[in-house]
Amino acid sequence: MIAGTSLAAKDRNKCVRPEIDGTQTALRLTGRDYISCSSITTFQRCPLKYYFQYVVGLVPEFVPSSLIFGTAIHAAVESHFRALLEGACAPSVHDLMEAYQQTWKEESSSPVQFGKGESAESLTDLARRMLEAFLKSDTSRPEGEIVGIEEEFRARIVEDCPPLLGRVDLIFCARAALHLVDFKTARNRWNEAKTEEGLPQMALYAELARPLATALGCRTVRPEWIIVTKTQQPVVQAVSAQLGPSQIARTRSVVRQVWRAITTEVFYPTPSAMQCATCPFQTACRTWEAGP
Ligand code: SF4
Repeated sequence: MIAGTSLAAKDRNKCVRPEIDGTQTALRLTGRDYISCSSITTFQRCPLKYYFQYVVGLVPEFVPSSLIFGTAIHAAVESHFRALLEGACAPSVHDLMEAYQQTWKEESSSPVQFGKGESAESLTDLARRMLEAFLKSDTSRPEGEIVGIEEEFRARIVEDCPPLLGRVDLIFCARAALHLVDFKTARNRWNEAKTEEGLPQMALYAELARPLATALGCRTVRPEWIIVTKTQQPVVQAVSAQLGPSQIARTRSVVRQVWRAITTEVFYPTPSAMQCATCPFQTACRTWEAGP
């Protein structure tokens, strides 16, 4: 009798307890019990692309060369910092190119869509020049102590949202500050507008990494980008992300609103020349029709 009463109470709780953190909704919609910082950006750029990628899980029609190229350069840079973390000698450009080639091979199993005038060979040449420039720059020798590479953070930092997941390329401690480095490849040097565009993601990384900073005795968190340009003579640019309390508050509000929008399940295309040219769901998009 007592057991029956307790079961009934449990069932009643199940029915009436409101879902406050969105985890169940995230699981139902995407099969994941979290949202990633990059999925938020994808939704902001095109809700239909978000739907194809995260809700339906469509297999991409192709992989843009820029995506594989960025991933392969990241792998090369990661191998460099990993060697430093392990106390080994800094790898040569030849070693980094091996990591680049290996990743290129692994990532290009789907058809690759090259840009105008590009080929796997021309990108290999470009990668070598970029990695040479990186190795010559101060950014390849961070001061202080490396404490993480490709570090994943996951925490509930926005009210009413599922936990957020972010991955930081390089983390090091120097002068009582925890440095979070996001490595980028870009057509050109970043200007102020480009930096502004990247601030929300950095604000989330900074919030996610704050407990680590405290645990390591760091007084501040310093997010920054290392950008290597895909130009004839690549330039390595280090840019620090200037985050104030208002930026963090605004980013939390944006994430909350984006998550609310996702949960309404209203997905629609927002065509733009920039986005659509490299979108791997173009055929699905052309034949897509909204339900009743
Ligand atoms: S083709 Fe353009 S509009 Fe269509 S899903 Fe992709 S990005 Fe969105």
